[in-house]
Amino acid sequence: MTFRERLSRLLIGRNGVDNLSKFFLGLSMAFLVVTLFTNNGIVYLVAMFCLGYSYFRIMSRNISKRYYENQQYMRATAGIRSKIKSMIARFNQRKVYKYFTCPECKQKVRVPRGRGKIAITCPKCRTEFIKRS
Ligand SMILES: [Zn+2]
Repeated sequence: MTFRERLSRLLIGRNGVDNLSKFFLGLSMAFLVVTLFTNNGIVYLVAMFCLGYSYFRIMSRNISKRYYENQQYMRATAGIRSKIKSMIARFNQRKVYKYFTCPECKQKVRVPRGRGKIAITCPKCRTEFIKRS
């Protein structure tokens, strides 16, 4: 039996890895790194708690309850996740596009770079403003 098969057999009837357990796993890793530098016992305990809670979620048999908690977590973090996503997209496209904020409605407007001075029309409120692209 391969490791993967053994792992999937282990997780039969269990909740398995979801976003919330990943979050706590990441949190525990972050706290462990802090522990390395500060040697703080309380931070270490918090790290162990996060690790334990993540493990509890993965191995839990109460799948519907864990699913509900994960949904709550996803809903609560939807705003920040989409913000991070757009920041990453912006960073990846920084050589191709330039971003401006509409002076009227604060809408973010993306324009191709290197076109010199151009008139930009806001797609939301139709305000026109001049910028160097
Ligand atoms: Zn606008």
